[in-house]
Amino acid sequence: MAVCVYPGTFDPITCGHLDIIQRAAPLFEKMIILVGKNSAKSPFFTVEERVDFAQRVTAHLPNTEVDTFDGLLVHYVQRIQAHVIVRGLRALSDYDYEYQMASTNHTLCPNIETIFLMTALQYAFLSSSIVREIGRNGESLSGMVPEPILYDVTTRLAQNKSQNR
Ligand code: ADP
Repeated sequence: MAVCVYPGTFDPITCGHLDIIQRAAPLFEKMIILVGKNSAKSPFFTVEERVDFAQRVTAHLPNTEVDTFDGLLVHYVQRIQAHVIVRGLRALSDYDYEYQMASTNHTLCPNIETIFLMTALQYAFLSSSIVREIGRNGESLSGMVPEPILYDVTTRLAQNKSQNR
């Protein structure tokens, strides 16, 4: 059994992300949910919020941990002596980017493998950007954002809308 790393921006973490975590975590001794600081992407939620959300929705999964990283993912994976990166694949549209990332990481570090889980059908069209868009426009995020953070995510996105008026 090995340690795996599930990296992402998680801006915010969605039911689609949680589905991948719940299915992948039992396959490993430990799973690290790795929140990318990703200043290039200018996330809406702060890194502290994204970490807090990820911790709250995975509190029931004892072999998961949440951490942050900046820079190259393979450097983090090497540093903790892990060998597996987990990613979720939604539609064919994810494939090109994921193939490029996995190939790059494998070229940089041939002993690191990327493993893909297919998304559950009901989350195939769910993304953090769709969640942000729906939330900013005042629609319910129920079923898209995990229950423990539903109120906080909804409130933050709604506040942002009123600030932008
Ligand atoms: P990134 O900015 O690295 O793409 P994301 O937070 O958008 O980070 O996604 C992290 C991982 O979760 C990626 O592998 C992505 O394909 C996967 N993912 C995103 N949304 C879903 C979903 N609805 N179902 C399954 N996997 C998903």
